[in-house]
Amino acid sequence: MKGSANAPTTVARAGGGPVDLVALLPEEVSTLLAPLGEPPYRGRQVFAWVHARRAGDFDAMSDLPKGLRAWLAEHAAISRLEPRAVLDSSDGSRKALFEVPGGTIASVLMPAEDRVTLCVSSQVGCRMGCAFCLTGRMGLTRNLTAAEMVGQVLAASRLLPPGRRVTNVVFMGMGEPLDNLAEVVRAVRAITHREGLRVAPRRTTVSTVGLIPRLREFIEAGTGASVAVSLCATTDEARQAVVPIGKKYGLEDLVTVLREMRPGHGHRHTIEYLMLEGVGDSIEDARRLSRMLARFPSKVNLIPFNPWPGAPFRRPSDRAVEAFHQFLSSRGHLVTIRHSRGQDIGAACGQLGTADPNPPPDFAKR
Ligand code: SF4
Repeated sequence: MKGSANAPTTVARAGGGPVDLVALLPEEVSTLLAPLGEPPYRGRQVFAWVHARRAGDFDAMSDLPKGLRAWLAEHAAISRLEPRAVLDSSDGSRKALFEVPGGTIASVLMPAEDRVTLCVSSQVGCRMGCAFCLTGRMGLTRNLTAAEMVGQVLAASRLLPPGRRVTNVVFMGMGEPLDNLAEVVRAVRAITHREGLRVAPRRTTVSTVGLIPRLREFIEAGTGASVAVSLCATTDEARQAVVPIGKKYGLEDLVTVLREMRPGHGHRHTIEYLMLEGVGDSIEDARRLSRMLARFPSKVNLIPFNPWPGAPFRRPSDRAVEAFHQFLSSRGHLVTIRHSRGQDIGAACGQLGTADPNPPPDFAKR
């Protein structure tokens, strides 16, 4: 399950079957084709057909020699994720559900005037067990492959009208991305490649609940992607009661790594601060958070909790959220209140648990 982000790349053939080109980077396609005497640029050409031009078969690759197309048809494949259902929210966001081995995953497409953001899943379930999260109740079934993550972006791209493309990708769907580090790094490299989907690295964000050693490894992998850390409390005691990983890695560990791993010039680490009533929503919490934020370049998104049936937490009052926001603003922090989109289709932050639009009323008891 685990693997180094810097592991040497190989052209993997599961069980000796065809190679899935969706999972390969251009240089890996070149390596695959080199024994055939193909020039190195073929890797970029094939990669662009799969990722940028979204070819579904090899016949479409009209500028490849016929013999090569025939060889690819025999030895390679282009996997394709097709949504089982697409649910439309009244706010314009769309949730796509996919059946994959082991269960159902979801992606959420959030078009805006100047951007199209896609929230992707990185695992089927999650083993982090955060108390506020529906996914956390499922436990982990398995890690998604890079091809399944890239496949979510390709599928979302097909849902967009002509002329629009996915401009921002956030790994904030089902799963803890850094618990699936090597495949997430591979997916980020493919998604941000300039011959492919061309999502800017800075507009690609990998979120973590605080897997500190993996966070360091991810930043060192040098993908250029942004990092977001989810917090919901400002003392270790309060955090540990909600986020089990907090017992292993405390807030000071987190601040230390964010201080050491400075983002590129002019960029900031993002803190996604989930506001749960009575957990971390007081002015005293805002004061402690402010002291933390002063120690590294940061911006903060305040996310009022979206309750789900049976949730053991409540959303703080608008007044409490506003007071928290005001306090941080007055201390000079870059802070925004984020109102989750897609609440009516179970697509808002923390609602991707069952990947079902209508979770059964007893879901929370599972
Ligand atoms: S919040 Fe993220 S890390 Fe925590 S259980 Fe949910 S999906 Fe996993």
